[in-house]
Amino acid sequence: MKILIAVDMEGITGVVEWKHVESTHAEYQRFRRIMTADVNAAVSGAAEAGADEILVADGHGYAKNILIEELDSRARINSGSPSPFSMVQGVDTGVHAAFFIGYHAHMSTEKAVLAHTWSCERVSNVWLNGKIVGEIGLNASVCGSFGVPVLLLSGDQAACNEAQEWIPGIEVVPVKKASGRYSAECLPPGVSQPLIHQAAMHAVTKFKAGRCPAPLQVELPVRITIEFLNTAQADAAALLPNFDRLDGRRVGFQAESMPAAYRFFRAAVSLA
Ligand SMILES: [Zn+2]
Repeated sequence: MKILIAVDMEGITGVVEWKHVESTHAEYQRFRRIMTADVNAAVSGAAEAGADEILVADGHGYAKNILIEELDSRARINSGSPSPFSMVQGVDTGVHAAFFIGYHAHMSTEKAVLAHTWSCERVSNVWLNGKIVGEIGLNASVCGSFGVPVLLLSGDQAACNEAQEWIPGIEVVPVKKASGRYSAECLPPGVSQPLIHQAAMHAVTKFKAGRCPAPLQVELPVRITIEFLNTAQADAAALLPNFDRLDGRRVGFQAESMPAAYRFFRAAVSLA
């Protein structure tokens, strides 16, 4: 059984502000170590429950955050960017199921640590087939297009709620309870990581018994609308072929598959 562990940073144990997740700040070095330990908790849980191949995707920023020298030796890691599948790099390599570790809620969520959708300097909101979506729904839909269900998510309580909305039956580990964008009551690693470990074991055990969430399938063709922070960003994104300018800050497009929609979305945000 092969598991993909897709990892972001804003929902890692203890993270409450940008300095914790930006490589130019001294604090970042502490939190990338905690990030690696949150991932290791998921790796060991999955391995102990019988996963024999574990692929980690570093999905934050330029995908060079997890400390490979501290990574559990049962895992392999995709680092660096851009990669074809970005936050879920490796999803097309015969993966049976995925975990999302350190995830965060979409940009417009109240009481959600560092909530954003792909880029908080560029994107205010995204809609997938008319429904507001964040990185959880986008990445889970890409996984779903390969028949891969998402079994587990860790992050703050808002990310956990968002995950349960998109993926009924998903296991969640709320490692912090946000009271604002930059404040939360946090579990220490000595508490959160055993919880991640246990949930990973439980999720894989349930999967092997045939009890797990269904892969997230979206209706095709996929319709995506992106609302940018300013009109210049929409000007740039609207240069892409087959993009419609909807108003000052919004562009929209249609794609024949979820992986294609994901590529167009990433291209538009990069241009903006
Ligand atoms: Zn993110």
